[in-house]
Amino acid sequence: MNFDLTPEQDQLRDAVRELGRKYGHSYFVSKAKAGEHTTELWHEAGRLGYLGVNIPTEYGGGGGGITDLALVCEELAATGCPLLLLVVSPAIAATIISKHGTEEQRKKHLPGLADGSEKIVFAITEPDAGSNFHRLSTVARRDGDDWLLSGRKIYISGVDEAGHVLVVARTEDASTGKLKPALFIVPTDAPGLEKSKLDMEILSPENQFLLFLDDVRLPADALVGESLDAGLPALFAGLNPERITVAAMGAGTGRYAIDRASDYTATRKVWGGNSIGSHQGVAHPLAHAAVQVELARLMIYKAATLYDAGRDLEAGISGNMAKYAAGEAAALAVDTAVQALGGAGMTTEYGVSTLLGAVRAGRIAPVSREMILNFVAQHVLGQDKSY
Ligand SMILES: Cc1cc2nc3c(=O)[nH]c(=O)nc-3n(C[C@H](O)[C@H](O)[C@H](O)COP(=O)(O)OP(=O)(O)OC[C@H]3O[C@@H](n4cnc5c(N)ncnc54)[C@H](O)[C@@H]3O)c2cc1C
Repeated sequence: MNFDLTPEQDQLRDAVRELGRKYGHSYFVSKAKAGEHTTELWHEAGRLGYLGVNIPTEYGGGGGGITDLALVCEELAATGCPLLLLVVSPAIAATIISKHGTEEQRKKHLPGLADGSEKIVFAITEPDAGSNFHRLSTVARRDGDDWLLSGRKIYISGVDEAGHVLVVARTEDASTGKLKPALFIVPTDAPGLEKSKLDMEILSPENQFLLFLDDVRLPADALVGESLDAGLPALFAGLNPERITVAAMGAGTGRYAIDRASDYTATRKVWGGNSIGSHQGVAHPLAHAAVQVELARLMIYKAATLYDAGRDLEAGISGNMAKYAAGEAAALAVDTAVQALGGAGMTTEYGVSTLLGAVRAGRIAPVSREMILNFVAQHVLGQDKSY
């Protein structure tokens, strides 16, 4: 058993931390408050190769794995820059296109995803389906060689900053008449695709959208993969990278909050000589949160290692557990940090309560804590499915 990163991964982590510190949480917050995006940070990370660490070298990436991308997500978040689109574009979209796209799709999209000049976002959630993927009602119909896509998607992140959106739809299987999932790479400016920004109570430079697809006409090659059979495996290919990287972002956010709070409590004095951190009522909750974050990190890197070794089923269990643990740990860490900072915890300047909305959302998206508990109960504990 080995808990060490490789020397290259150590270097990557240090370099990403340096980049994140150059921008920092105040940059992230100022962009969010101005309704702008973290474009400068994204492009610099792309130029330095951090957005493409998991993309094969022949398409301009670093040729590494999800472990490397998880390090990028965690370290940027640990400097106060939790970039949700890292989870969507390089983790989900690039993995799906690398593993299940056609050679033309790989050549067309992966180099831009690797250097950050292109973003592809991901749309699965629907207003009437929610956590129940089996109820998806966005449908793709054949019209000659083209496809016509109709339906609605909700909470789709980053549509305003992406060139394409990977839409999960259903198509009719000609042999069985049954609907099966299929993924389409849809230009965000396609006629018939309308987006409406949702008002979310999350301080974030990334926005969520309601999408309306009204007979969006797509050429045959918009379908991910060579045939309709690619749909289901392509969809599943995105799940483990999504869970692992979102968990890494949560763990990094937790580390950031605990660092901010412990720096403060070690020096703040309101009772004479001792710092407030000398009081166990202040220090123990922070220490407890630090333990939870570190435990989540162990599961994140176990899941990433299993995934990179091609052990997908085991990575599925660990990835779900990591996402659950990190979601809970991040929410606990931020809330505990706010309390330890007192009034300062609620100010923009100290930069901790600015993360409350994001970590709360991390217990809901991209898969909720309850759906992970359902998964663990069913697949690890052998319980019957109740829903
Ligand atoms: C900030 C943010 C960004 C997002 N970005 C994207 C994106 O880019 N692309 C995308 O496709 N989606 C995105 N989502 C959507 C996200 O994946 C969904 O919100 C999530 O899957 C839950 O679906 P829902 O909101 O419809 O909740 P519902 O399915 O309506 O569930 C509501 C509550 O009921 C619980 N529940 C439901 N069924 C069960 C059950 N069987 N057992 C126990 N509890 C249950 C859930 O856990 C949840 O707490 C985003 C969401 C947020 C908040």
